[in-house]
Amino acid sequence: MIHVPSWLQLAWERGILTTKYPFEPARPEEVSPAGVGPVPTSPLDQLTDAPARCPTGAITLDAVDQGKCVRCARCLGAGFAFTGPVESSEARRGDLVWAGGRPGAQTNDGPLADLGRSIHVYLVDVGSCMACNLEVLALSNPYYDSQRLGIFFTNSPRHADVLVVVGVPTEEMVEPVRRAYEALPAPKAVIAVGACAIGGGVFAGNPGLKGALEQVIPVDRFVPGCPPPPVAILHAILATMGRSRTPPGGR
Ligand code: SF4
Ligand code: SF4
Repeated sequence: MIHVPSWLQLAWERGILTTKYPFEPARPEEVSPAGVGPVPTSPLDQLTDAPARCPTGAITLDAVDQGKCVRCARCLGAGFAFTGPVESSEARRGDLVWAGGRPGAQTNDGPLADLGRSIHVYLVDVGSCMACNLEVLALSNPYYDSQRLGIFFTNSPRHADVLVVVGVPTEEMVEPVRRAYEALPAPKAVIAVGACAIGGGVFAGNPGLKGALEQVIPVDRFVPGCPPPPVAILHAILATMGRSRTPPGGR
């Protein structure tokens, strides 16, 4: 009798588990409850308790700044719900400020749109808590399998097309990330992943920190979240390549 290893039998029974994103919408289990942005359930100017609850000043009575949101959920008791789109990255920092708390139109054509079909990504952690770091690296596991889309990770910025940066820039990491940026051959793109890289997150204003990545190097794409789910990061990388597609049900 032939012995079939249990892992092989399991794989046979379950079939292919790799995500179908971006060809199909992200499945619920691919987006954590706080993996998308908070949206007001009533007109924003009526939610007068919400701004005082927000620890990062993301909420005003006119707008919600998704770039400042750290997904702490404190506004959920003041008329908000985590119902924003998972494809929430933007090419301009200002577009993360949702007027009336609702997302606007999105810019998807990136600086690498004229490049060939495959790109290489170099990841730099300038001061993260590791959560954003892990969500980016998850893209190379068999589930997200970014290689199926022609997206590969590299250990050298000289071989990279995209610089993905996580964490709030510390003084010590300013020069290393600048050098990494300069080492990328043109054309190149920079993606700031997470509230820390976008504007400092909960650490904004602390001594020894730069606060925002765009004060250090140019940024082509901002991915809000704390941390953003892998599919949101995948969407941002595809957007820099001009290849993002909003699946049915997306924004
Ligand atoms: S979830 Fe975001 S918007 Fe809501 S209170 Fe926390 S930081 Fe502020
Ligand atoms: S944005 Fe949030 S998850 Fe990402 S590094 Fe900063 S604290 Fe960690």
